[in-house]
Amino acid sequence: MPKYVYDFTEGNKDLKDLLGGKGANLAEMTNIGLPVPPGFTITTEACRHYLGHGGMPEGLEGEIGEHLAALEARMGKRLGQADDPLLVSVRSGAKFSMPGMMETVLNIGLNDDSVLGLAKQSGNDRFAWDSYRRLIQMFGKTVLDIDGELFEDAMDDLKGEREDTELDAADLQRLVETFKGIVRECTGRDFPADPREQMDLAVKAVFDSWNAPRAILYRRQERIPADLGTAVNVVAMVFGNMGPDSGTGVAFTRDPGSGRQGVYGDYLRNAQGEDVVAGIRNTVPLQELETINPQAYRELLDIMATLERHYRDLCDIEFTIERGKLWMLQTRVGKRTAAAAFCIATQLVDEGLIDMDEAVTRVTGDQLAQLMFPRFAATAGDHRLTTGMNASPGAAAGRAVFSSERAVELAGQGEAVILVRRETNPDDLAGMIAAHGVLTSRGGKTSHAAVVARGMGKTCVCGAEELEVDPHARRFTAPGGVVVNEGDVISIDGGTGAVYLGEVPVTASPVAKYFEGEPAEDELVQAVDRIMTHADSVRRLAVWANADTPEDAARARRYGAQGIGLCRTEHMFLGERRRLVEDLILAATPEERQAALDALEPLQTGDFTGIFAAMRGLPVTIRLIDPPLHEFLPDLTDLAVKVALAGDGADDRDRRLLEEVKRLHEQNPMLGLRGVRLGLTIPGLFAMQVRAIAAAARQVEDARAEIMIPLAGAVQELEIVREEAERILAEAGVAAAIGTMIEVPRAALTAGQIAEAAEFFSFGTNDLTQMTWGFSRDDVESAFFGKYLDLGVFGVSPFESIDREGVGRLMRIAVEEGRRARPDLKIGICGEHGGDPDSVHFCHEIGLDYVSCSPFRIPVARLEAGRAALTCAQSDTR
Ligand code: PEP
Ligand code: MG
Repeated sequence: MPKYVYDFTEGNKDLKDLLGGKGANLAEMTNIGLPVPPGFTITTEACRHYLGHGGMPEGLEGEIGEHLAALEARMGKRLGQADDPLLVSVRSGAKFSMPGMMETVLNIGLNDDSVLGLAKQSGNDRFAWDSYRRLIQMFGKTVLDIDGELFEDAMDDLKGEREDTELDAADLQRLVETFKGIVRECTGRDFPADPREQMDLAVKAVFDSWNAPRAILYRRQERIPADLGTAVNVVAMVFGNMGPDSGTGVAFTRDPGSGRQGVYGDYLRNAQGEDVVAGIRNTVPLQELETINPQAYRELLDIMATLERHYRDLCDIEFTIERGKLWMLQTRVGKRTAAAAFCIATQLVDEGLIDMDEAVTRVTGDQLAQLMFPRFAATAGDHRLTTGMNASPGAAAGRAVFSSERAVELAGQGEAVILVRRETNPDDLAGMIAAHGVLTSRGGKTSHAAVVARGMGKTCVCGAEELEVDPHARRFTAPGGVVVNEGDVISIDGGTGAVYLGEVPVTASPVAKYFEGEPAEDELVQAVDRIMTHADSVRRLAVWANADTPEDAARARRYGAQGIGLCRTEHMFLGERRRLVEDLILAATPEERQAALDALEPLQTGDFTGIFAAMRGLPVTIRLIDPPLHEFLPDLTDLAVKVALAGDGADDRDRRLLEEVKRLHEQNPMLGLRGVRLGLTIPGLFAMQVRAIAAAARQVEDARAEIMIPLAGAVQELEIVREEAERILAEAGVAAAIGTMIEVPRAALTAGQIAEAAEFFSFGTNDLTQMTWGFSRDDVESAFFGKYLDLGVFGVSPFESIDREGVGRLMRIAVEEGRRARPDLKIGICGEHGGDPDSVHFCHEIGLDYVSCSPFRIPVARLEAGRAALTCAQSDTR
C-alpha cells in the first residue's frame, strides 16, 4: 500500500509531484531548521485516488490518524481539546502554483467548548470568538458550499458603521450564533462540532476543489495537466491576529521586477493571511517591521538570506508573527519579470551561488523574445477595438491603410502605416515591408501574413474576426459599430493580439539594439550578453536563418546565424517580374518559353549574388520555386470581368491569360501543382534557377550554395531534378550540395530511399504538420483551433510547436532511416517551428544538425539550443 501521508520532517523540495509545491517546500524549510509550524502533507496520489474512485483510498484515514496523533504529542495538546485546543489549518497545494484557485480552511478544531479553552489560554476572548466565526464562515463556504455572501451580509448587519476591529468579544459571540444558524438553515444540520470530522471534511473539500470550475479554467490557460491532483497540508495554527505584537506578511528575497537585492514585501499587523490576500485592510511596507519588532525583522532577513543561499534563487515567502515569534508559512522560487530573470541569473553567478551552465537554464527563449520587442505602455484609458491572434510580436501604431499600394505611397511620405487586409497574399509584400504593422481579419499563425511578418520581425495581428474589413470602401467596422477609415490611426499589439483605436505610446528595446550591434551597457543587456555567449559555447545545434533578401541575410548574420536554411525564391517572381512569369506560362512554343526563362535568369542571378555576398563563407540553402503557378497570375474573377467588359475589344493576351488561369485553377492548391511537381511539369524552370545559382556562386568568392528541392514525396522526383541540376553545376564548374525538404509524410516514411538522392534533409514542418493532421494551414487556426484548445484536443497549436507524437514521430523515422542510408546526411528544420523553444529542444533530442528560423528568432533559437544541450538527458551528441 502506498504511503499517503508525510510528516514535514519526512519530505523535501524535490518531492513536488507527490507533496505539491507548498508541502515540499514546508518540508524543506523544516529540515534546514527554519521555524515552520509542525504538520504533515497528504499526497497528490491520495487526491488522484479520491477523485478517480469517488472515495478515500484504503488506509488513508488510519495514516492521517497516526500523523495527527504524532502532531498532538509534539504540541502537547489534542485537536480541539476543550481546555487548550490544538488548532490546524487545512491547505491546498498542487505541484504548480494555482494562486487562490483552490481551498484552504483555517482554525479547524474550534467548537462551543474549545473556543472557551482558547479564550482562556490566550487570555483574549475577542481573539477566540473571532477565530471561531472565521472557521464557521470559511468552512461554511468552502466545505458546505454555502453562499459566502450570507455570512458577509450578516457581519455587515452587525457592524453597521463600525470597522471589523471595533467588534468586541460579545459581538463576535453573537455573530457565531448567527453563522451557526445560517449553516443549519442551508444544510439542514448543525455545524460539525467534532474536530476530526471538521478536518476530514475539509480535506475532502480541498481535494474536490481541484475540479472547481475556476481551477479547471486556470489550468487550461496555464497549460497545467488536468490529472495531477492537489496535495493537502495540515499545519498547526499560528496566529497573526493575537494582538498588536502579532501580524502577517509576504516578501521577496529580491525585487521580482528588476532583480535588485533588498527588502521587498508587505506587512499587516494583527491579522491573518487571508486579510492580506483579500485586501481588506491596508498593509505597510515590510521595512516598517524593523520599528514594530526589530528582533523578528532581523530574524526574517536572516531567513531570507538562508533561503536564497539554499534555493540558490529568488524566493517568495509568507510568514506570520505570533506574539513576537516569527513563523514561516510558505516559500517557493518566486515568479519574476523577463528582465529580472536575466539579471538575477547573472547576479547569482557573481555571488558564487550558481555557475554559468545553470544561469543559462534559469532563463527562457520566451523571456528573451519579450525583451526584444518594443512594447506599448498601454493603460486602461486606451480604446481597445478587438483582440485577434498574436501572430508576430511587437507594438506598432500608424494610419490604417487598406492596400499595398497605399501603404507604399504613404510610407514614402514618411507616414507610419498599418496595413489592414482581410488576408494578405504575396502581392502585398511591398505594402507589408512599407508598413509598421499588419492586421488581418482572417488567417492563423502560419497564414501568409503571419509567416512573412515574423520573418521581417514586423508586428502582426491576424485573424481578428470581429473586424469587418471592406478594402473597396477603405474602412473596417469593429464591434459596437466603430468605423475606422483609411488614414485613422490605430495601434496593434503583436504580443497580445490587441487592436486599439488611436496611438498608444511605444518604447524601444535595448536588447534588440544590442543584437543589432550596439555595445552592452546597462545591467540587463550585459546579463543577456553573458548568457548568450555561454549558450553559444555549449550548444550542439547550429542556428541558421530563413531569409530571402540580402538585407534579411545581413541582419540574420548580425544576430548570429551560421547559414541560410531557407531562401524562398518565389518572392523573387513578383512585382515587375510577374509579366515574365506570365510570358512563361503563355509560351506557345519551346522558343517562346526559353525566351521567357532567359529574361528571368539574369534577374535571379542578381538576387542570389546579393545573398551569397551577405553570407560569404557560410552555407546558403536556396529552395527552388515552390507555390502553385496560379499565384503569379491575375485573379480569375478580376480577369474574367475585365475580359467580359471589354467584349469584342478584349486584349488577345488577356483572353489567353484567362484561359490559362482557368486551366490552372485548383480546388486545393496547397495539395496541387507546386514544389517539385511544378519543376517537373514546366520544362526549364528549375534548370533556369540552378543556372542562376551557379552563375551567382561563381561571382562571389567563398559562396557556399546548397540547392533544396521542395515537396518531394518520392525518390524518383528527386532523381530527375538532381540529374539535370548536377549536369548544369558540372558545366559551370560549381560545387553545390543538393538536398530536399521533408514536407510530405511519404517522404518521411521513405526517408531511406530519399536519402539516396539527397545530401541533406530540411524538415518543412509547416507543410508536414498540414499534411500529417490534414489541417489546412491557412484556414484552421482561426476557424476552430480556439475550440480545440478549449476542448483540450491539444494544449498548443501544432503549427506553433511540433506535435511530438505525430509529426515528431515522422521526423524521428526520417532521421533514423535517412542516416542509416547516408551516415553523413545533414539534417535541419526550416518550418516555423525552427524558432519555437519547445521544438528546438525536440530537434536537439532527435539529433538534428541545425534549426533555421526567421532572423528575429535567431537569438531565441541560440539560447534554447544552449538550454537543450544543458538539460536534455537523451541528446544525440554526434
Ligand atoms: C514548410 O512547409 O515548413 C516550409 C518551410 O515551406 P513553406 O512554409 O514555404 O511552405
Ligand atoms: Mg512548405
